[in-house]
Amino acid sequence: MTSWETIFAAGAGRETLEIKRKVEDEGTWYRRIIRGLEEGSGQWSSPEKNILPGTLLEDTSWLAMHPIELDSELYPDLQKRLLEVDPERTRLWSSWAQAVFGEEVDTAMAAAFILHAGTVCVLTGAGISTESNLPDFRSSSGWWRKIDPKTVASVEALTNEYELFHSFYSARITALKQAEPNNGHDILAAWEAGELVQLTATQNVDGLHQRAGSQKTAELHGSLASFSCSVCHESAGKDAFLEGVGCRVCGGNLRPDVVLFGEPLPQEAWEKTFEAVRNADVLIVIGTSLEVAPANQIPRQTRGRKIYINKDRAGTWEDFDLILTGSAGSVLKQIDFWIQAVKQK
Ligand SMILES: [Zn+2]
Repeated sequence: MTSWETIFAAGAGRETLEIKRKVEDEGTWYRRIIRGLEEGSGQWSSPEKNILPGTLLEDTSWLAMHPIELDSELYPDLQKRLLEVDPERTRLWSSWAQAVFGEEVDTAMAAAFILHAGTVCVLTGAGISTESNLPDFRSSSGWWRKIDPKTVASVEALTNEYELFHSFYSARITALKQAEPNNGHDILAAWEAGELVQLTATQNVDGLHQRAGSQKTAELHGSLASFSCSVCHESAGKDAFLEGVGCRVCGGNLRPDVVLFGEPLPQEAWEKTFEAVRNADVLIVIGTSLEVAPANQIPRQTRGRKIYINKDRAGTWEDFDLILTGSAGSVLKQIDFWIQAVKQK
């Protein structure tokens, strides 16, 4: 007696699509569509020999049906085919994704959104740099010399306590020398190079996106990588700042080009970001709790899909389409894994 093994079944209404093989007939596949509910109705296709079973799923009519039975052998093939279609245009995308991506359904959906978007904009905060061995000068445990950075990273300190200001920023710049861009920065830079990402806006001043290779960036709070005179604004080098020498033009005190407490935000970077976000099909917010205005206004500018990646769910009062909790590096790595599964044919 012949025994049959089902590796795929999907159905909609009174129609069922099945792929089976005879157990003793390894490497030979049969496909049939059953119309109606009668047991044993429908014609089996002629046997397909020596092909991968996924080949029988090349036409995607099954996407209009509900998954019924799927052998895990088919997962890689089904995953790739699912990522190739736009979730927004396919009514049953989610139920198939639940079935074939399991716990990774959300990172897979993020990958699909990115793959099918015309423009993607990224907003990053401190959370993307935590895996870069950067001390957090803002956290209470990381306060430099137990001084609240609000008092030293300020116009007040620059003007009246330059020595303190200078040693604070010298310490931060020296600490940056030990930091390296991490996996998360690298993936975003690779997505930009692959034309998946059009702008990376960051609240960070560490310059790690640029060091990883991102070129289309907006630094919303300035940068620790460039310096100028606090009096005449002439640009200056890092070494001149660290040595504590004065401006070569007027002798004024040098400073890093970061936004200090008491200073306005850099208008050009903010305008560029708002414009890019308004036009984006997908906005990815990474490693920021979005607690501070005006950064918390950024996600509200877009009509596109919004993806939130953070170690906790702070900031999720925003209306995000997808919330992915975990370290920025590991979540981005998993999303990138799905993207590469489609790109590498
Ligand atoms: Zn000067």
